[in-house]
Amino acid sequence: MGSISKPLLQWFDQHGRHSLPWQGNPANIYHVWISEIMLQQTQVSTVISYFNNFIRYFPNLAALASASEDSVLAQWAGLGYYARARNLHKSSKIIAQDYQGVFPVNIEQVVALPGIGESTAGAILSIGHNQNHAILDGNVKRVLSRYHQVKGHYGQSETLKQLWALAKQHTPNTRNNDYTQAIMDLGATLCTRSRPDCSRCPVKQGCQAYQCGTQTEYPNPRPKKNKLSRSIAMLVYQNKQGQVYLEKRPAKGIWGGLWSFMECEDSAKEINRTIQQFDTSAHINRTLNPIKHSFTHYHLIINPVVVNCSEQAHVFQSANQLKVGVPTPVNKILAQLD
Ligand code: SF4
Repeated sequence: MGSISKPLLQWFDQHGRHSLPWQGNPANIYHVWISEIMLQQTQVSTVISYFNNFIRYFPNLAALASASEDSVLAQWAGLGYYARARNLHKSSKIIAQDYQGVFPVNIEQVVALPGIGESTAGAILSIGHNQNHAILDGNVKRVLSRYHQVKGHYGQSETLKQLWALAKQHTPNTRNNDYTQAIMDLGATLCTRSRPDCSRCPVKQGCQAYQCGTQTEYPNPRPKKNKLSRSIAMLVYQNKQGQVYLEKRPAKGIWGGLWSFMECEDSAKEINRTIQQFDTSAHINRTLNPIKHSFTHYHLIINPVVVNCSEQAHVFQSANQLKVGVPTPVNKILAQLD
């Protein structure tokens, strides 16, 4: 079977995305790197404003490497999957120290950086350095699963191995950078998750799923597991000036390194015990609307409890002038305080 690269590149020249903020001629590998990390699990339309903002704060690798983790997380807040930001920051320090501040151009060295897998490394070096590499991000997995009617979910190692072999088979040695962008664009704009626009697809002639009318069956879904729900209370300590108390979360675990309200088990006994430990004169003012936040493996139900307190030992912050990164549910709780 021939490669899809020829019709795909022809389509890309006419219909691909050529003016994204991280695309340049010549490419700036720092910009490409930041964008590829942001684009892991996040769509282009969401990433654009975060990317522009991030580059304004950290215009080059030296600026990122010398920034504090809090300031990096603050610019990332809202984009989710915060390990990406912490790894980006760690990588910038490694590059500053071990590679004299120049992004490495050897794929093994790039894969060795925290948070960068084979596909992301391939994309960065293909687009940012015009090297020949195959990629297999979510878009490419979807396109190739349909094009070849690949059975099984890509979370299973055999299926993943098959998809990598197909990705390598289709990847051309010329215009590799354009092909990388083109196949991502095809997945993002035409071969979309729920309603692929096959009539406009440049590779429909060879696409097995299109020929059989089975597009929506591929990629095969992940074998089902019921998501568990977990419930916690978040204690929104407020002083007389209306300022709130936030604490920095540990680096490991959910929302690592971000700032959040103190939390405890969602029971009256545990809430009262935790409040008394914080400030013996504190008392519950009211509860706010619960917030549901879903992670890959479970739903978290957050019940916010506003607590008035007068103690002076902790540092309170003005909610509308926060200079630290906070998780999305904390922002939703702060909005309810207005
Ligand atoms: S023909 Fe349809 S299913 Fe096949 S690759 Fe194109 S958009 Fe995807």
